[in-house]
Amino acid sequence: HPVALKRALISVSDKTGLIEFAQKLAARGVEILSTGGSAKAMREAGLTVKDVADVTGFPEMMDGRVKTLHPAVHGGLLALRDNDEHLAAMQAHGIGPIDLLVVNLYPFEETVAKGADYADCIENIDIGGPAMIRAAAKNHGFVSVIVDVQDYDALLAELDANDDHTTMGFRQRQAQIAYARTAAYDAAVSTWMAGAIGEETPRRRAFAGTLAQGLRYGENPHQQAAFYVTGDTRPGVASARQWQGKELSYNNINDTDAAFELVAEFDPANGPACAIIKHANPCGVAQGATAIEAYKRAFDCDTTSAFGGIVALNQPLDGATAEEIVKIFTEVVIAPDADEDAKRIFAAKKNLRLLTTGGLPDPTAAGMTFRQVAGGFLAQGRDNGHVTRDALKIVTERQPSEQELNDLLFAWTVAKHVKSNAIVYARDGATVGIGAGQMSRVDSTRIGRRKSEDMAETLGLAQPLTIGSAVASDAFFPFADGIEALAEAGAKAVIQPGGSMRDDEVIAAANRLGLAMVFTGQRHFRH
Ligand code: 5GP
Repeated sequence: HPVALKRALISVSDKTGLIEFAQKLAARGVEILSTGGSAKAMREAGLTVKDVADVTGFPEMMDGRVKTLHPAVHGGLLALRDNDEHLAAMQAHGIGPIDLLVVNLYPFEETVAKGADYADCIENIDIGGPAMIRAAAKNHGFVSVIVDVQDYDALLAELDANDDHTTMGFRQRQAQIAYARTAAYDAAVSTWMAGAIGEETPRRRAFAGTLAQGLRYGENPHQQAAFYVTGDTRPGVASARQWQGKELSYNNINDTDAAFELVAEFDPANGPACAIIKHANPCGVAQGATAIEAYKRAFDCDTTSAFGGIVALNQPLDGATAEEIVKIFTEVVIAPDADEDAKRIFAAKKNLRLLTTGGLPDPTAAGMTFRQVAGGFLAQGRDNGHVTRDALKIVTERQPSEQELNDLLFAWTVAKHVKSNAIVYARDGATVGIGAGQMSRVDSTRIGRRKSEDMAETLGLAQPLTIGSAVASDAFFPFADGIEALAEAGAKAVIQPGGSMRDDEVIAAANRLGLAMVFTGQRHFRH
């Protein structure tokens, strides 16, 4: 519902744009309350401003530590305008409603950045500001909150568009921004304090998440570690239920996440899919008519590496599949669900951890990923890229067959989850050779091929399954040599982003060697 804007409280440390903004509010007939420095600046510009001290009946005191922390302010921000008791309380105590709060906080981050001493940093921790921001944001049903100079224009535009009223949608967005600001502010205080007192224990450091669990150690036993959750409730490793087995380790959590995010790419409506992961890379991925078939085919891609791996399924686990999985040592099994038979079979394996998630995450959903670098974080949107069949561009004389197209898309989907440079050979909905994490794309093609040759020997096949396979490359081939290596391995069809300076040479090589090739126009680097 729209809310008219009659009374504003302005208390800002950064006074950029303040006068112009306040003038525009005043021109709309908005009454302005303010604190010391802000009030002074506005009065000097000829504006009529009421001191918060006059509203509270208390002077600002203790070096400004206590200015606005008073029921006359917080009651005005928090009272529900459609609640008779709240209205009666306002009446009884002479509290006037505040419809707009404009606050930017003491410049704590800047104070730290300029190398201020301990006492100075402490004095720059804003108390009243965040309290008011949080109150106004909570009461966004009636109150608008602006915490950023950049949003002054957005508020004025909102008033222009709505006959001097604010809409619920606007107030919700500003409230969300406000909580992001106070959260980041406290995180900055905690991070600074951790540094100031020499606290380096990850479990006690504040990050964007909430500490879910201290871990025994990190990637290696000499590294401390902890698991933080963001509150994202989508099905996945953070929200999963663990049925048995000891606590997950740092590497288990990382690998289980990789496994489950990979199988989630395969819609259960198109049948069971299984992924087996080691060191965050798949050593086998397959679809099958049944879950057990999908598992067996994934396992047959690389039976050696699968030992001690993480197994993920895109559909509930049954007893037969569980029976097959426990034939070798497996660290973790994760699936949307598991039936009683499966649980009973896993229960006999004390070291195996069984996790169920209740569903699959949407691989096309937006999200963020983070990586730390010295002195900072890299943040990016998660790789939710997805190519459909109609987006593929066939660039060779030979057209891929229907089966090859299916396998190309299958291999492409798997390649998205393989560390770069990634080369994935596939046949009939199963990987048959994976080359991961090499600095040269040609090396990845060779490794995938060699794995397949080893497996042909292990399984007693007449020839390696790469012969006649479809292959995905996570990024373009910079030279023709990669295509030549794939042809040598017996591949018949290739999927890759395209876009190399030498695409012409690469396409010519594919034509010369009788390969079908399609371009996706999208890359899947993963590091
Ligand atoms: P001014 O320059 O108007 O005197 O002060 C503005 C700053 O005071 C703003 O950054 C605002 O967040 C902060 N502030 C407002 N009320 C209080 C309070 O009660 N205690 C503290 N510590 N800061 C406050």
